[in-house]
Amino acid sequence: MIQDIAPHQYNVAYQPKQPKPSDTLLIYRGGKILAGFVKDEICFPTVEEIQSIFPGAAKKAKYLFRIDERDYYELRKPPIEAFDGWKYEDILVLRRAVPMWKAFAGITGYQIHNWYSDHQFCGRCAAELEAAPGERALKCPVCGKIIYPTIAPSVIVAVTNKDQILMTRYASSHSSYKNYALVAGYAEVGETLEATVHREVMEEVGLRVKNLRYYKSQPWAFSGALLVGYFCEVDGDTSVTLEEEELCEATWFTRSEMPVKDDHVISLTNEMMEYFRIYGYPKARDGENE
Ligand SMILES: [Zn+2]
Repeated sequence: MIQDIAPHQYNVAYQPKQPKPSDTLLIYRGGKILAGFVKDEICFPTVEEIQSIFPGAAKKAKYLFRIDERDYYELRKPPIEAFDGWKYEDILVLRRAVPMWKAFAGITGYQIHNWYSDHQFCGRCAAELEAAPGERALKCPVCGKIIYPTIAPSVIVAVTNKDQILMTRYASSHSSYKNYALVAGYAEVGETLEATVHREVMEEVGLRVKNLRYYKSQPWAFSGALLVGYFCEVDGDTSVTLEEEELCEATWFTRSEMPVKDDHVISLTNEMMEYFRIYGYPKARDGENE
């Protein structure tokens, strides 16, 4: 998955400092990122490269995170157009970009960038927000409200029936993603993740489920979500009632009939589908009820 970048190491601890010339600058503009390609591999400009055309860059750069020994910074709204092989690329290019650890850096910076962009003023008193000292947060200098990065928990649900899995496709009015997916949705206020699983499955495909089994989680910065993957088994009737506003299809596939993915597996959804195709329903872990 896109966050599995070992042997590289992502360190999100908030340690702002003056950038070095060799550090990386991520620059976003309206759903795009300034990037270049060397032999099909994506890369992002260094502080030094941006300084050469915009001398104020190092001073204005805001700390994002560290990967290995390299710090990543963001430059907000710089007066920089495409130059020297650097172009503004659609953020979705990061879904397929290699090496994957750089794509992860690009999309993770995008989530932080969006959060800063959407939180310039206090929602309580409308004063301009300031960086809170010592942590990644914003503070209102007037009313004192502290605002932390927004992360939206949501579930991905592999609904199974013996050796069948329910695969869905979004209605074109709901999402531009056209390939098969799994039932998914955001947790609502007051819900456990398990309650979200039951509600979303009932809403989207009209099925009751049982024997929920946690699989893995994934930070999905494309939508700002923290995805939590569950396998579960249908409980009773297997006939689907589609929520047509959201989905155009929900089909039971046996493991041998499941469409094989050709793209590299960056998403939890695809990993869960591949897992089921190859291994079937996951076994209980230690301490889990069978
Ligand atoms: Zn305020």
